[in-house]
Amino acid sequence: MELSDPTVRRRLTSAVSLLLCVDYDGTLTPIVAHPSRARLSARTKQLLKRLASLPGVRVALVSGRALRDVRRLVGLRGLCYVGNHGLELQGAGLRYVHPIAQTSRSFMKRLAAQLRTALQLIRGAEVEDKGLTVSLHWRRVPRSASRAFHRLVGQYLAPHRRKGVIRITQGKRVIEVRPPVAWDKGRIIAWILGQMAGQARWTSPFVIYLGDDRTDEDAFRLVNRRRGLSVFVGRSNHRTAARHRLQTPLEAAHWLSRVVAWRTHTPIR
Ligand SMILES: [Mg+2]
Repeated sequence: MELSDPTVRRRLTSAVSLLLCVDYDGTLTPIVAHPSRARLSARTKQLLKRLASLPGVRVALVSGRALRDVRRLVGLRGLCYVGNHGLELQGAGLRYVHPIAQTSRSFMKRLAAQLRTALQLIRGAEVEDKGLTVSLHWRRVPRSASRAFHRLVGQYLAPHRRKGVIRITQGKRVIEVRPPVAWDKGRIIAWILGQMAGQARWTSPFVIYLGDDRTDEDAFRLVNRRRGLSVFVGRSNHRTAARHRLQTPLEAAHWLSRVVAWRTHTPIR
């Protein structure tokens, strides 16, 4: 089933309620050399605002960035913001911090500082302290230094991993150091759905997820189980659980504008 298929449109327009979940980097904005330059275009921001204002539509921004970071970058009211791959959430009347992640916050802070010192000698390596997690970016590490980077990171993290105090995941040229909890973007969406279930029209919303990276796969699977729309954004050939594809963030924005148009012409129930 294609995203332009009339059945997709029918399902989107006939759903009593819609939970639209979107990742930020690589999904709404193109991937750039420096994460701080990944800005939302005025057009896409307007689009999100419009979507969130539609009756029966809720928008969740589901990012691997720190919660405060993604809130600052998007800067819209009424949206539900999810940070650190689901470990923290705020907005649209909801609030959540994973309890185990909360207890390892000070450990993560120390770890970020130690890693920053350890990686000082690797050109282009960047340590991002995200509060509940630490990101090690190697997008700007020259090819000649990439082995040294991975060896150093491996040596440094191995003892912590053996002790079971951290979990490591990989993204696009980034290594994520997380607390040792089985929690991800799929589980936080399930949590959101659970919270909304008590409200009349929100017992069983139609769920859409747009994402571009490995950490989005858990969300794709959750959405597939719920018979929603899982949409991979990008041209990469890696295996994905997503059942649909849009080639670029620009295409994603274009498709979202069609969702606005479809839902605008839906009679209010
Ligand atoms: Mg992404």
